[in-house]
Amino acid sequence: METADQNYTSSVNDIFEETGATFEYQNLFHQTIASILEACDLLEVPHRLKLIISQPKNELMIHCPVEMDDGSWRLFKGYRVQHNNVLGPYKGGIRYHADIKLDEVKTLSVLMTMKCALARLPFGGAKGAVRVDPRGLSKGELMRLTRRLTSALGSNIGPDYDIPAPDVGTNAQIMAWMADTYIHSAEPSIKVTARGVVTGKPLEFGGSEGREKATGQGLVYVLEELLPDMGIELDQVSYSLIGYGNVGSWVGRLLAARGANLKAVMDHTGAIYNEAGIDAEQLAWHVQKTGGVKGFTEACEISEQAFYSTAVDLFIPAALEQMIDLEHAEKMNCKVLVEAANAPTTPRAEKYLLKKGVEVLPAILCNAGGVTVSYFEWKQNRQSESWDAEDVDARLKKVMVRSARRVNKMAERFDCGMRMASYAAAMEHINTVYELRGSFP
Ligand code: NAD
Repeated sequence: METADQNYTSSVNDIFEETGATFEYQNLFHQTIASILEACDLLEVPHRLKLIISQPKNELMIHCPVEMDDGSWRLFKGYRVQHNNVLGPYKGGIRYHADIKLDEVKTLSVLMTMKCALARLPFGGAKGAVRVDPRGLSKGELMRLTRRLTSALGSNIGPDYDIPAPDVGTNAQIMAWMADTYIHSAEPSIKVTARGVVTGKPLEFGGSEGREKATGQGLVYVLEELLPDMGIELDQVSYSLIGYGNVGSWVGRLLAARGANLKAVMDHTGAIYNEAGIDAEQLAWHVQKTGGVKGFTEACEISEQAFYSTAVDLFIPAALEQMIDLEHAEKMNCKVLVEAANAPTTPRAEKYLLKKGVEVLPAILCNAGGVTVSYFEWKQNRQSESWDAEDVDARLKKVMVRSARRVNKMAERFDCGMRMASYAAAMEHINTVYELRGSFP
């Protein structure tokens, strides 16, 4: 178990005390807020902003009774956490997973506030989750759960107020059911734009070109911008991936198109390895057919330990939070840790890797492509437009490159790591908007 070895500034401790929270080092939400408060100290933002940012504005807890196919009923617990909306409507994914904790959802909502601010999108931050293993439900059960959840959320979501999107365990079909349920109860005057209540919808029902691959594509644009300064050529890199779902499989396919060598992949079913390279497209087919990477015949099965020890240029986690702890970090043999998943690295693991000379590229920069194309989808829905794929890609690239440069600039200004720099770049924007808007009441 990791223990505290970090001394936070007195301002961090003061804010925790003022908000009545006892700082727990193991608590991901506390760790995240502490790091953001440290960025606030670098920027010397007003005390009021530190207080506002240290807690979500709203935390909703919902219980959804759903009839199963066999006639029995189950009660599902769900959360929607709305962290901050100073920049625009709340925005963030909905996750379906068996192991959900409120503090985890709170963390993911803060990270959305940071991500949207860093990318200069007109959105705030939110996150939702339902405690359920979606793989254990039939299609009908999933639909009834999703409709019940949407109806329970009621006016707590809306195209001008809070806009969910897919995340772990949810997909375009689930977004289509959410939008359909919301449209049914929407006022006639907003029915046309009501589909903008969620993003990540299927293309035929108000989705955007490029949304499915957006998170992976955005990450590739960030790598194109940052790797040359580290002396690494993108088309010659070797890399390993944790997770081969939406984000992981798109990172795989897009990096394959650039000539990169995927050496090892691990997901919830096991780990596989091929020194000569794993075919990302074939693996995507295999995972779609079987549910995981296990049994892929063009690579050999390896242990979790061997997976972490594989020598690669880039190590890309694209699964769940906090998977890279100190024990795993000590085994890792890479030049750059590229966070495709949200919060995949514990603070001690990050500290260890930085000391070893491994660069850590933070998730709020690397995976912002998803929410950026979600913004494009929302914009298209409002204007009843459909942009073509090239247009979406070009706009996405612009946002990702500018965000990467913002982070680089902050890292230089404060001589700090990329995570601290990304929080500082986000908080500087949020601070400016609070200052411009002034205080109320
Ligand atoms: P997904 O459900 O499509 O895939 C999740 C992957 O994680 C699967 O391959 C699964 O096998 C793997 N996984 C789960 N438990 C595991 C374990 N114990 N060990 C190893 N692998 C495990 O989810 P996704 O949409 O690809 O999201 C992945 C990450 O990216 C999450 O952190 C999510 O919040 C983040 N993210 C997603 C998007 C998006 O557009 N989907 C955008 C930004 C960030």
